[in-house]
Amino acid sequence: MIDNCIYNYTRSNLEDFFISHNLQKYRSTQVYEGLYSQKVKDFNDINNLNKDVKKLLCDNFSIKELKLVKKLEASDGTTKFLFELEDGNLIETVLMIQNYGYSVCITSQVGCNMGCKFCASGTTKKIRNLEVYEMLLQVLTIDNYLQEKGKRVSHVVVMGIGEPFDNFDNVMNFINVINDAKGLAIGARHITVSTCGLVDKIIEFSNFPLQVNLAISLHFAKNEKRDLYMPINKRYKLKELIEACKYYFDKTNRRLTFEYILLDGVNDGLNDAKDLVNLVKDLNCYVNLIPYNSTSHNLKRTTEIRRDEFFNYLVSNHINAIVRKEHGTDIDAACGQLRVNTIKERSND
Ligand code: SAH
Repeated sequence: MIDNCIYNYTRSNLEDFFISHNLQKYRSTQVYEGLYSQKVKDFNDINNLNKDVKKLLCDNFSIKELKLVKKLEASDGTTKFLFELEDGNLIETVLMIQNYGYSVCITSQVGCNMGCKFCASGTTKKIRNLEVYEMLLQVLTIDNYLQEKGKRVSHVVVMGIGEPFDNFDNVMNFINVINDAKGLAIGARHITVSTCGLVDKIIEFSNFPLQVNLAISLHFAKNEKRDLYMPINKRYKLKELIEACKYYFDKTNRRLTFEYILLDGVNDGLNDAKDLVNLVKDLNCYVNLIPYNSTSHNLKRTTEIRRDEFFNYLVSNHINAIVRKEHGTDIDAACGQLRVNTIKERSND
């Protein structure tokens, strides 16, 4: 098979391709309709294309698929998909049923180099970045699965394994394709990218022409603590991070989200809540309080009493706080768990 997957191509990349072959650029729109509306698996099945164009496509591109290894459905409908990539690496994708639609959480890298101490994926090194088509196929495969039930993917969050801003160009092209009106037509406001805080990329992202949502994995409101658990904080301190967040807001006018995992006895005291209020009070933001999914580390989830105290402190100080609803607790939905367990099973075979 030709190793040049068509799903790597934005519509404007394809326009360039057709122009370079002395063909009209609107061919790229016909190809997009074939791929993302008709959902063909063979260029010869695309309506409206003549024989020569079909041959040109077959000679230059492939249409790849992801191999589904496992699918686990939780009682609340959350479904985890474990896919195998062409080189044998495994990635996870999660479908969550929200009251506002069907949201897919995608993986952006095989492994991750950020090394956050509380994160299961952080303990494995990055093996490689995902290509655009590998991110795209996570969404497309789940969209096909939903389509059989008369539903569609409405939201995409780049919050699975990996640091999306460490794979910036591919993630931006991926967003371009899923957002394209002739692609998967997922509105920019329905797309969220989550980062642990690569400041230079936050700035670059703020200048991206689409109004995509940004979530920051903050988790600690003081440098001394953040340094201990999130190595990225040694490179970009909180002051710089918050300035970059302000820049994002000024550029996009989009309210951003701070994610804050509540860790028992580590960052869940009222003094921590006070530090958090001081840090974010001037920003137009939400604070999303996340229950910790215990991995093999020596960290524990906060009790509900302490969580509620923390939450109430934020709200009484005029912070828009939310406690994240848990999904798929009966299928080990913690980030990376299915992948890690399957790698272990395979190595025991
Ligand atoms: N690298 C990106 C996206 C992947 S992590 C980022 O850091 O944002 C997605 C989110 O899950 C982050 O907020 C991360 O801090 C959080 N997370 C990681 N491990 C977790 C765990 N064990 N329990 C709950 N949330 C976790």
